[in-house]
Formats: sequence, structure tokens, C-alpha cells
Amino acid sequence: MTRSANLGFPRIGAHRELKKALESYWKGETDAVALEATAAQLRARHWQLQHQAGIDIIPSNDFSFYDHMLDMTAALGAIPPRFAGIDNPLALYFAMARGTKDAPAMEMTKWFDTNYHYIVPEFHAGQRFVLSTRKALDQYSEAKALGIETRPVIVGPVTWLSLGKTKDEGLDPLSLLDAVLPAYVDLLAALKAEGTQWVQIDEPILVLDLSPAQRDALSRAYAALAPVAPKIMLATYFGALLDNTELAATLPVAGLHIDLVRAPEQLPVVLKALPADKVLSVGVIDGRNIWRADLDAAFALVSKAWDAVGPDRLEIAPSCSLLHTPVDLDGETELDAELLSWLAFAKQKLAEVSALSLAMQKGKGAAKAAFDASAAAIAAHRNSPRIHQPAVKARAAEAIDLARQSPFPSRRQQQRSRYNLPAFPTTTIGSFPQTAEVREQRSAFKKGRIDEATYNAFLEAETERAVRIQERLDIDVLVHGEFERNDMVEYFGEQLDGFAFTKNGWVQSYGSRCVKPPVIYGDVSRPAPMTVRWSAYAASLTDRPMKGMLTGPVTILQWSFVRVDQSRSETCRQIALAIRDEVIDLEAAGIGMIQIDEPALREGLPLRNADWVIYLRWAVDCFRASASGVGDATQIHTHMCYAEFNDIMPAIAEMDADVISIETSRSDMELLHAFRDFKYPNEIGPGVWDIHSPRVPSQGDMEALMRKAAEGIPADQLWVNPDCGLKTRGWPEVEASLTNLVATAKALRAS
Ligand code: GLN
Ligand code: ZN
Repeated sequence: MTRSANLGFPRIGAHRELKKALESYWKGETDAVALEATAAQLRARHWQLQHQAGIDIIPSNDFSFYDHMLDMTAALGAIPPRFAGIDNPLALYFAMARGTKDAPAMEMTKWFDTNYHYIVPEFHAGQRFVLSTRKALDQYSEAKALGIETRPVIVGPVTWLSLGKTKDEGLDPLSLLDAVLPAYVDLLAALKAEGTQWVQIDEPILVLDLSPAQRDALSRAYAALAPVAPKIMLATYFGALLDNTELAATLPVAGLHIDLVRAPEQLPVVLKALPADKVLSVGVIDGRNIWRADLDAAFALVSKAWDAVGPDRLEIAPSCSLLHTPVDLDGETELDAELLSWLAFAKQKLAEVSALSLAMQKGKGAAKAAFDASAAAIAAHRNSPRIHQPAVKARAAEAIDLARQSPFPSRRQQQRSRYNLPAFPTTTIGSFPQTAEVREQRSAFKKGRIDEATYNAFLEAETERAVRIQERLDIDVLVHGEFERNDMVEYFGEQLDGFAFTKNGWVQSYGSRCVKPPVIYGDVSRPAPMTVRWSAYAASLTDRPMKGMLTGPVTILQWSFVRVDQSRSETCRQIALAIRDEVIDLEAAGIGMIQIDEPALREGLPLRNADWVIYLRWAVDCFRASASGVGDATQIHTHMCYAEFNDIMPAIAEMDADVISIETSRSDMELLHAFRDFKYPNEIGPGVWDIHSPRVPSQGDMEALMRKAAEGIPADQLWVNPDCGLKTRGWPEVEASLTNLVATAKALRAS
């Protein structure tokens, strides 16, 4: 019989209960018993919810206090030596995640192309692994005690090793496979002894370009694990298996899960490769986006799988864990009925999976209500004037000149004679401290406790204060401080057509941190200027140049839930044109320097190398579309942070911003090598102050960094600035650090 399955449920809770429990535990306000109690409640609630939604195969061990990769690291006893001596397991776990006084936290990075961040395993030569936690076993038993049979989830050995890193030169993490397998064997054998029938092992690495060593590791790993393990459902997601199809289909496991939302075209290929005794789990409901599914289309896809493998070897599931979606649409009381009818969060997605499974077994009539609602929403969506704006589409289809009027050398001359800045000009990245007072005033305004005039007067006063401080510190290019902004994407989304905002649409970003991405549901346009008022006001207060401050189109796209009825590149182009209008309006208002932030440009890179060129083409073009509407004497800045630049240097150069500021201080200017080796032609501000640390860098620190930068980059191309915006810092450290920063620039000029 065809069964419905889930691969993972959001842990954080519909009202972010886990976040609150964790943070009060970390503050010492509550104890471990209270934390465990909240966690157990959430697990029980989520198992019940999945059971009631009609899901046959419910996951366990998908819950985590912080991160599932860190759970695996703890389970395998892969504790970095600097945490030795912490005996309490919970304290040890959180120490690895968050660091202690004496030991810095383990590194964190993005989980594939999601906005979820995992804790990176650390390896060293000769490392030993031993099964060290009972979490998977305990959570299986916990569900069983509630009367719910589950399929425990673990991260597979090759994904776990491949995503780790080592400081030992020459050590290939995969060489630790033989050392780690016995711990996996112990875990899987223990699960089997506990009575587990099936286990889900996640190997999303299978959708990436694999090295021969990784492929070999997969074969060896599953040859070792399969004989001792419960039946294995090998889960792949986030893309197509492509050249790894044969390998994935023939590993000695009992079932294979594939992502048919990202890659529906892989179904026939996988069906061909899949041996006749294996279960196929088809991921047909999008686990990473929030749109209601087209159930008829999904039904057609599942039917093809059914025809090939038959009812008994088929499972119907979301494309990946639902970790990347908010919990429950029922909490959204402020969206109108039409918008609501287009959306589905985790709970609603499980209802879709279950409707599909019912329809496969008993015909569509058995799930008539679900299919009717889906068809109605899809039809309304296709025709809704709220979504489709002919004028916006027509404009996006028009060709525009993506190039600035003149090449950089000529622009540079014009900008230099206009501004006459000293060598090593100083500036900041945009935001100044979002103090408790700023946040209180915003919240008071949103809740209607103060009126707009009062709020604006407050913002004007804050802006003026920031301008005076910058003048006093003798910074060359000023910013207005972004006090009016809650968030660099939300602020723009709220003023653009085609965006909606949820009340509780939280998804986990890392640990207890959640984000609430805007929803881009329709064609995007800009009804009115968004930032001109604040930039012009700030500019009117001073004789120094004031930089306008915008978020770039790729970053707005990347940090939102994006519609899927047109390509991401088309949606991005619409956003780019809206930003272009804003850039032109800023210029007309006398703002001669405009920064268009693109910190998420690199994050958008596709998982497979072969797809990079196409992405980078449209991403760079969108940036250029937003920037190319101004005259030569207007200076366009951009900013990027926390990224490797080496492999995308040509694309960065093609953006052709007059000035780029980047994060470089944490890497001790290492990241600048890419710009040096590439002979980056335009101006560049390598960050000299790691703004994620409360530490005030001395003039000596910053001068050393700048001198290092000047070894590789001609001095007349260099700016002096922090790594990123200052909104998370306090004023005293900002003033102290910027004092040293300006002194650094002056010292460089003097020598
Ligand atoms: N202009 C933004 C700020 O200063 C840039 C933030 C970012 O790069 N993430 O806050
Ligand atoms: Zn930044």
C-alpha cells in the first residue's frame, strides 16, 4: 500500500517556544529540566499533529536543541579538543554551538542553498569516534511510548564528513570514514535492537558534484551499514541526482527518496535506474517554500511513479524536511482570504501529502475537498490581477542599457573632481546602532501608541545625531544611519507592490535564531520613492557627501519566499527595476553616492557548478540594471560580506560598482587576495573592523590590516571602512572604533 511520509518537522514551535526556552535557559533563568520539558512537549505535539494529518511514516530524531549536524557530531563523539573537560552533556553541546569564555564556538555555515546554518564538524588526523549520545534511541522510544511508531532520521556519514573541515594540512575528511563507520554501526544496530523497522539516512551530498573519493566513500559506507541497520531510506534532496543517479539507486539500501519539486525531470531517469526491490519515496510537496501545491500536477507525477513501481513500493512525501517552512498557516490572522488560499505551511503541507496518498489509494474523489481547493487556488492565482501586472511585465521585458554611460576610468575622474576626497577615504556600511530606544519607538509606532509625526521627529533627531557624530569624528563619506529600518529586506518589501508579510512565518536560521522572510507573491513594482526622504533629509544637514543606502535586487530575492509561477530571474529583474527607479530618484534629489548592498549575491549560487554561469549572468545583470540609470559623476557603491570571492571575481568585476566594500578583517585580509590576484579595477574598501565582535580595534590593528591590503592593491584604489553595518553595536564602541579608523586613514595619508 502506498504510504504517506514526512522527512522532518520544524522544531522551533508555532510560537517559537523552543527559542524562548533555549534563551531563558542560556540566561540562567530556567534549568535543564524546564528546557527538556518544553522540548518533550514540542516533540509530542508535533508527532500528534503529523499523526492527525494522516501521515503514515513520521520522523523522530529530527528534533534538535540547536542543529541536526551538531547532534550527529555529538552522537559520534567528535568533540573538538578545546571542549575537553566539560562533563555535562548539555553544557558540552551548547559550548560547541555557542562557545565558552575559554573556547570559541565551532564554525557555522549555510546548509546547502537554504538559509539554515549548521555547525561545521571539525576533524583532525587520527581522530577517533565512538557512539556518545542516546538521543536517536531515546526519541524513538519517547514517540513509541506515546503510541507513535517513527522512522528515526540521522545525517549520513558521507554528508557529515564532506561538510566538515580540518586545520590539519593534507588531511582529507573522507580518510576518516573507516574510523567513523563503527560508531555509525553501533548507532544503527542499537536502533534496530530498540525495535526500529526503518531509519532515514540523509545524504543530500548526492545532489552535488561528487569527487571519485566521495562516490567511493558512499559505496563503502552503505556496504558496511546496510547489514546491521534497520531498513534504510536514503534521503536525497535540494536537487537532481544527475550523474549520481546510478550510484544512489544501487547502494545497498531499502529505499530512496528523491526531490521531485526541484527536479521533476529526474523521475524517469531514477525509475530506470532503481532496482525492482526498492521503495521509492517521491518528494512532490515543496518542503522549502510556502505555496499551496498544485495537487493535480502532483497527482500526475506520483501516478507515473506508481505505474512504474506499483503501490507497495511507493511513498509520498515533501521534497525535503519541512524544517525550512513555518509551522502553521492557521496562525496568520492578518492575511486576507485570497492570499491565504495560495499558501501552505508545514501543517498544511502534510495535509497535502496525505490527500495525495488517499487519492492514489481510493481515487481523487476520496480527497475531493483538498483537490478542489487546490484547483481553485491555482486557477485564481493564474488570473489574479493582484499577481499579474501587465505594465510591470512589459517593462521587465524591455531591454535597457546595463552599462553605465562611460567606463570606470572616466567615471572615476568625474567623481574625483566632483568630490575631491582625500586618499584612503573613510566611510561606514550604512546602519548605526539600533538602540533599545530606536526599537521601542518603532514598536510604539507600529502598535499605534505614538503617531507618525512623533515617530518621524524621533527618527530625524536620531539621524541628525548620527550626522553630527560622523562630522565630529571627521568621516569623509557619511551615512544617515538606517534608524527607520527594521530590516534591510523587510523595509523595502513593505514599500513595494507584490510583497506580503506574515505574522508567525518564522523559520530557523541557526540555533534559536529565526527569520520571517517576506513573501513575494506578485509582480513587483515601486508605487513611490522609498528612501529619498531620509537620505535627502540627512544630506541637508551637512556639507559632506551623504551616501544613499539601498538593498540590492538579488539580496531582496534571496532572503524572501519567492513565487514559483515565473523564474527567479524574472522576479529579480522586476525588483531590479524598482531599485533602479529609486537610484534615479536619489540622484535627482542630489544624492551623489548610492550604495546598493548585495551581501546575498554569493549565497544564490546554484549547487551544481554547471549552473553557476547562468545564475551569475542574471544576478549581475539585475545589479547592473539597478545601478546603470545614473550619470557618470554619481558614484555607485556596493557591499558584500561573509563570502568567499575567489571563484566569482569576474562576476564581481562585471557588476562594475565604482566602489565595493567587503568583509575582510576576520580573515586577516585573506579574502582580499582574490581582488589582488584578479587585479580588480575599481575602488575597494576592505573591512578593517570585525563588527561581530564587541572588541574595539586599535589604530595599530587597523593600520596593520590596511598596510597588508596596500601590499596587494594600489593605494589610490583603497577606502577605509568597517566590515559591515553597525546596527548590532553600541554607540560607545562605535565612536571609539571609528575614532581609531579615521586616525588610521590619516596616518596612511601622512606616510
Ligand atoms: N547597509 C546595511 C547595514 O549597514 C548592510 C547590511 C549587510 O551587509 N548585511 O546594515
Ligand atoms: Zn555586510
